[in-house]
Amino acid sequence: MPKLSRYNHFHAWRDGYYLAFNARSGAVALLDSSNYSTYERLAGKIQTHATGPLTPEEEELLKQLRYGLFACDDDFSELDWLKFEHNRARFNESTLSLVIAPTMACNMACPYCYEGSKQGRMSGETMQAVIDFVKQRAGSLNGLNVDWFGGEPLLAMDIVERLSRSFIDLSETHKFEYTSTIVSNGYLLTPEIIDRLVALKCRAAQVTLDGPSRMHNRKRLLKNGKTSFDAIIRNLQSAVEKMNISIRVNVDKSFSVEVIQELVDELKQADLHKKVWVNFGMLEAATSVCSNIAEDCYGTADFSNVETEYFALLLKEGFRIQKLPAPTSVFCMAQQVGCFLIDPDGDLYRCFNHAGDKTKSAGHISAEIDFHHPEFNRLFRFDPFEDSDCRDCTILPICMGSCPARRAGRNGTPETTCDTWKYNLEPMLEIIALARQQAASAAAAAPQEKS
Ligand code: SF4
Ligand code: SF4
Repeated sequence: MPKLSRYNHFHAWRDGYYLAFNARSGAVALLDSSNYSTYERLAGKIQTHATGPLTPEEEELLKQLRYGLFACDDDFSELDWLKFEHNRARFNESTLSLVIAPTMACNMACPYCYEGSKQGRMSGETMQAVIDFVKQRAGSLNGLNVDWFGGEPLLAMDIVERLSRSFIDLSETHKFEYTSTIVSNGYLLTPEIIDRLVALKCRAAQVTLDGPSRMHNRKRLLKNGKTSFDAIIRNLQSAVEKMNISIRVNVDKSFSVEVIQELVDELKQADLHKKVWVNFGMLEAATSVCSNIAEDCYGTADFSNVETEYFALLLKEGFRIQKLPAPTSVFCMAQQVGCFLIDPDGDLYRCFNHAGDKTKSAGHISAEIDFHHPEFNRLFRFDPFEDSDCRDCTILPICMGSCPARRAGRNGTPETTCDTWKYNLEPMLEIIALARQQAASAAAAAPQEKS
């Protein structure tokens, strides 16, 4: 007899349908009431170890449940399987992922920025050390992913260009895949820069908008005192034709559904709503530099509620929904031996929030990697398979213990450590299922509209 996955999530949806999700496979399915009755009968037989034969309907459903990993062999340990994949990803050195900050300088002065007013550009010597770092590993690489970060990386486009060309040359010589993405405030993402980035195999950009124009222009003033919203929107209108663009909206308690509606209206007016992905980030007082914003920040449970409301609004307004509860082997770069953030001085870090904070550096690009460095271990050592809450958690495959920096810096209650999925999986699945239905209806209607 098979068994049911511990990562199944079933709940009543609408019009008599049931929504089924398995966190290990990421499969989402809709069951009508007849299928759901079959499922309940089958689940009863499985759980009571019934010995009689299954009906043809139960056999057919079981086949489909196995396919989506909703059911597996009785002697199969899902937890062992996840642990193996987690460790494989942790110690994988055949893919190198580098977050490179060519400069820590920025053209904006955001009050919550954890990077303070750092400056500095990568020197020719450090660039060569970065290239040598990749070259030493190139023979055994399957892939190199680079995320351009800062400061504002487009203030150092010449460095992005030089390093990218070297990485592309190495990828062609050693036959590994090279891809890159960029995190930018969008002000310098002009059509000319987009063409240069695309030529350098940069396929996606994440740009931050801090709400509708009236809020964004107040919160994200340029250092010269000018506003930036209109210029960013103009840049995005060109960028969407050539790159994947996601807009991150950093949310604190000053936001509301009405505020997001204003932003949605502005994006629709700019004809961006079907061309960009919008995601919401939870503002956190990540370092002492931005501890002044702590009282304006949401905790995870409250943020999860407002995030769900905002995604429901995006769905209603015809936006595409990017946030998916996807299975992952590790939560982030901090738990992988093949991932590093490199600052303009060549210092190495394990977390986006630590860029340029020398007290958190775990070594230097030109030295041997010290995997026993305290700053390497501080974030690397947390293992969700040694944590009883995570081991028993039914969303472990899509969370994997959540952000290691939150664990390292806080007191370890679920409210401070767990991921947003812990609080909003069910309503978000409904939104995702509706988004898929809308996309399927639009695709089905498209040929009829043409004829
Ligand atoms: S440790 Fe947390 S904050 Fe740092 S990179 Fe990972 S997820 Fe992001
Ligand atoms: S951090 Fe929380 S949500 Fe994530 S796996 Fe652990 S217990 Fe589950």
